[in-house]
Amino acid sequence: MRSHARQHRSTPSFAALALSALLLATAPSALAKDWDVYSLGGREYVSDENVAKFYQFERFAKQDKDRIFKHPSLIMTWKIGSESIYVNNIKFNLSFPVIENGGMAMLSTVDLAKLVDPVVRPSYIRKPILFDTVVLDAGHGAHDTGAKGPYGREKDYALDMVLRLEKELQARGFKTLLTRREDVFLTLGQRVEIANREKNAIFISMHFNSSGAKTANGIETYALAPQGTSSTDGSSPWNSLLTGNVRDAENIALATAVHAHVISELKSVDRGIKRARFNVLRGINKPAILFEGGFVTSPSEGKLINDPEHRQRIAVSIADAVVRFKTAVGKK
Ligand SMILES: [Zn+2]
Repeated sequence: MRSHARQHRSTPSFAALALSALLLATAPSALAKDWDVYSLGGREYVSDENVAKFYQFERFAKQDKDRIFKHPSLIMTWKIGSESIYVNNIKFNLSFPVIENGGMAMLSTVDLAKLVDPVVRPSYIRKPILFDTVVLDAGHGAHDTGAKGPYGREKDYALDMVLRLEKELQARGFKTLLTRREDVFLTLGQRVEIANREKNAIFISMHFNSSGAKTANGIETYALAPQGTSSTDGSSPWNSLLTGNVRDAENIALATAVHAHVISELKSVDRGIKRARFNVLRGINKPAILFEGGFVTSPSEGKLINDPEHRQRIAVSIADAVVRFKTAVGKK
């Protein structure tokens, strides 16, 4: 059996060039030589030191398995072996765990290009969508009640949330389009079709969570999993990454803006920013997220969710986050 051999490519490889093209479309001064791409176990990685240098972090510290990157306004932490990283104390699930190689913590190029880069510098997102409309999707409806808790049902809370959010967004100058504004059933396909009719828009699907464990609580936000993260045909993820979802960067930037702001405003438990291939996200041709605003099955959080004032606070936080997202991606 071959060891987990390092194949350190010191000359700019295809992967390094592709990575640079992805990351640096708007920064012509940076070249492929800025990235040393390692091939480990059939996957491409970059090192902690390379990331610290490339993004010019003011401080970079190694403490055992921990890596800490500091900018004046941003702290990112990695842990070798972990399947998530933290940026400003917000948890992000990785597509692949951080691995160790020769004393260095290694991050997959997929997570670099699709997560760290758009989160650390959203203004570098290539040709971001110029949106004036937010498509709001209340999950479930009619016979599809969604999660049920002691105080109420997900389908009702989700609808109430999008109606509140609509008002808040309109007050901030956005147009809105709702996939449903009453208790009706829509297929995922119908939701996608409505969303894709609108050109200059982003998409927010609103849900609440459930769990058999009454102790489960907190907020989680899903962005579409980048293409290439689960290619099972043995080919390099780069193949599909290069032709991947053009909105990957914006999806994670939007998820970050919304998730981080809601967590900081409501002090909810942070369950992280996650990736998924929900059908409702997959078919959408615009920046899209799915927001899970807490557990209706939790006696404490379920009670909160049932409180209109609490739902209003979530709506206001999301609307403010959409304004922040627009500002962040729009500025060069
Ligand atoms: Zn749901």
